Amino acid sequence: MTEQIKTEQPIVKTMLKGLTLNELKDFFTVVDEKRFRGDQVFEWMYEHLAQSFDEMSTLPNYLRKKLNLYCELNTLTYVSSEVSHKTGTKKYLFKTKDNYVIESVIIPEAKRTTLCISTQVGCPLDCQFCATGLMGYNRNLTSGEIFDQYLLASKDWNKTPITNIVYMGMGEPLLNYANTLKSLQIFATEKTKGISLRKITVSTAGIAPKIVELADSGIKVKIALSIHSLFDETRNKIMPINKKYSVNENIEAVRYYANQTGTRITFEYVMLKDINDRSDDLNALIKLCKSIPCKLNIIPFNSIAHMNPSGIARELEPSPRYKIEEFVTKLRENNIFTAVRYTQGDDIAAACGQLAIKSLTPNLSKGEGE
Ligand code: SF4
Repeated sequence: MTEQIKTEQPIVKTMLKGLTLNELKDFFTVVDEKRFRGDQVFEWMYEHLAQSFDEMSTLPNYLRKKLNLYCELNTLTYVSSEVSHKTGTKKYLFKTKDNYVIESVIIPEAKRTTLCISTQVGCPLDCQFCATGLMGYNRNLTSGEIFDQYLLASKDWNKTPITNIVYMGMGEPLLNYANTLKSLQIFATEKTKGISLRKITVSTAGIAPKIVELADSGIKVKIALSIHSLFDETRNKIMPINKKYSVNENIEAVRYYANQTGTRITFEYVMLKDINDRSDDLNALIKLCKSIPCKLNIIPFNSIAHMNPSGIARELEPSPRYKIEEFVTKLRENNIFTAVRYTQGDDIAAACGQLAIKSLTPNLSKGEGE
């Protein structure tokens, strides 16, 4: 008689981090537990920021054991961090379970502390002024991985509470729409620690139909459109996604967003010498901002020389300071709320547009990036 060889199937664990309240309740129903266990685990994960089932002291012992056996809680691990001596900005590297590394940044300011989080590993868009765009793209982050950046950064950052979140790190959030929305739904739930949706901004390079979809989703976050030029010809060059969704389509989409949600749109405008700092650009910007409830962030271009860019990206230079001042003065004279986002953390490559990991390939060797 041939002896049968028994092979043990490894248990595929269910990842709970990233599930919304309703999904968690449904999960506990399916595994023959009471629905309120979903409320309890939700609170432990997202309010108390628990990192193990053993911390969940309101759950009975048998359930904690069961969860340890069949479920998972943590999506990311801390790799390293770096602090800007100029501004106190702190950049984190986190590692996914499949060994990709992503970046998140904490920006401390006088009245608020902002966490900038990533939504993709790399980015498929190819904005010429952005280091992340030049590094390529690997995959979308899950809703759990998006939320865990907040959890890990909150645990580490014990100076002041994180008051604001911007979806402005690596990746285009609206190309990872489902997971971005789910992470926002988690933040929107009353039981989630501390951050109100009014303090969350989703930044997009301009995926017009998804802006409209977000407007209709019932999730009222702020939206920031990286506009950078109001002329298709220029925008096509510096942001190739414009060939798919034009300036006008995006303006109409954010106009709809402002109407639907009652929020003010933020326009981001990185100033590039001789590209988008002409008087025509200024006049078009004034016309736009007068036609829509908005505020404008003028961003001096941060060097991406560390990425050895080629083509147009190689030729980009920051607008001279007098040009930036001229723009800001004229905009303010026209009663347009204008802020200049001076560089935060350029000494650690954590400023706007500078986020990029040297290599996107898995199998990160121990200690890389430190
Ligand atoms: S600016 Fe944003 S959308 Fe454009 S390449 Fe960089 S990360 Fe992607």
